[in-house]
Amino acid sequence: MTCPECGALNSLCKTRFDECLALEFSDLRYGAVHNLTVCAYMLQHSSQLSREGWLYERDLLREFIVEGKSPSVIRQQVKDSVDSGKRAFKFTSRDGKPVIKKTSWKKTILDIRMENAEDYCEDVTAWAGSVLENAETVAIL
Ligand SMILES: [Zn+2]
Repeated sequence: MTCPECGALNSLCKTRFDECLALEFSDLRYGAVHNLTVCAYMLQHSSQLSREGWLYERDLLREFIVEGKSPSVIRQQVKDSVDSGKRAFKFTSRDGKPVIKKTSWKKTILDIRMENAEDYCEDVTAWAGSVLENAETVAIL
């Protein structure tokens, strides 16, 4: 059975995501792309987010990839908006339903090589880039 959201074989995406996070937290060289991993994974699994949350993650990913903002700059921006109460919406899903139309993603988290940090960062970046490309055109429900 493939994942109904990202299309990963045998729905191995969740297991892989957990493995990625464990690596990223234990090894700084892997952790360099942590923000991309989270954004890309969440965008592909929209049932975990509210509509506003999904759009917010897409904006974040765009800022990382297109505008090349560093994670620390974005973290400060996010912190400022949370502190000032600007982020008034609920981030996580209320009903567990996808907020985007089913789409065929070019890459999934299973395309990432885990063996060394260099390949890992390269693959996460490529995956996140392709997710953003798909996410820019997908129909939002
Ligand atoms: Zn999936």
